[in-house]
Amino acid sequence: MIRVTLEGLTKRYDRVAVVDGASLEIPPGELTFLLGPSGAGKTTLARLVAGLDTLDDGEIFFDDRVMNVVPPHERKVGLVFQDDALWPRLSVAENIGYGLKVQRMPRAERRERVAEAMGALRIDSLAEKRPGHLTTLQRQRVALARALAVRPQLLILDEPLARLESRVRDEFRDEIRRIHAETEITTLVLTHHAKEALSLADRLAVMDLGKVVQVGPAHEVYNRPADTFVARFLGPTNLVQGQVESADSRGEVVVRTPFGRMVGQSLNGPLPAGSPVTVSIRPEAVSVGSTVPPGSNRFAATVERLVFLGEVRQVHLRGPGDWPVVALALQCQSQNLREGQSLTFSIPSDLVVVLQGK
Ligand code: ADP
Ligand code: MG
Repeated sequence: MIRVTLEGLTKRYDRVAVVDGASLEIPPGELTFLLGPSGAGKTTLARLVAGLDTLDDGEIFFDDRVMNVVPPHERKVGLVFQDDALWPRLSVAENIGYGLKVQRMPRAERRERVAEAMGALRIDSLAEKRPGHLTTLQRQRVALARALAVRPQLLILDEPLARLESRVRDEFRDEIRRIHAETEITTLVLTHHAKEALSLADRLAVMDLGKVVQVGPAHEVYNRPADTFVARFLGPTNLVQGQVESADSRGEVVVRTPFGRMVGQSLNGPLPAGSPVTVSIRPEAVSVGSTVPPGSNRFAATVERLVFLGEVRQVHLRGPGDWPVVALALQCQSQNLREGQSLTFSIPSDLVVVLQGK
């Protein structure tokens, strides 16, 4: 199990830095997700780490060893590309053994490795098939088996679920978790899908415009976003602009907003009075129930619209100063709500995140 440390990685195409000083630590044996919108630079970062592209700046460490100019095969990075890139004319077993053949591994050993990788993915019965005869899920399994066959020190999966239909996505997601638990290989998964990352990651890194903007446990990044980009990207949120009225040394902030005073938490330490801030409140932090936790902000509102989503209901509220706010409520808490009704809603102050700037 190796620790991978990336420091200030930079890659430019035509003088545009598509990876722009990205730093990230991938702890040994952990499943780390790199989440970012399309074009953020995730694939380019993966190619740099695997040695398929050369760095313009920065350093790559595997444990304490600098890898910047180490040739790709010596890095032992198993990279599963977004399009599985299987050889159409080779059988499944030949595809899986391809990298080993290139390494000139003796035939007997190669066979053993291929069998082991097929066993891990439970695809032994597909050994003689050609990729063209496989389902997308089977192809993904073959691509993953091929990456595992080289016994990588680092496994990188580029959007492993993006091409799968939702019906089999959960299956492959569980498989990634299982393989990771069994092999304990340091793993980085690239995705643009926030829900996927939140449900799978031990550790979540968010990338935007070529930089890693926040890293932490998934729940922490979700609940304590570093800025409005992360807040929005990880899920629906209510954003309200305001001004700091007062702040204490523990990070509790009173914010003046168009609809009244609100108490929240600053993650950037105490903020000076008068500074412009944006408040982020997740819909599920807004309670329309009658039980109000202590330390909550309370506001009067009218119910504008109710949207049935199955397990939860979206409650569109119109608060003071005409402020729109969306709440999510469980069926049992919302079945008596009616459109046009007046009510009081509440938001616990520790779920009101105060972010610097507009
Ligand atoms: P992501 O995987 O997060 O979607 P990419 O790393 O694929 O992002 O791409 C980041 C940016 O770099 C994109 O704007 C893309 O067009 C650009 N890019 C990637 N590879 C090349 C290349 N070989 N030449 C020029 N531009 C590239
Ligand atoms: Mg990509």
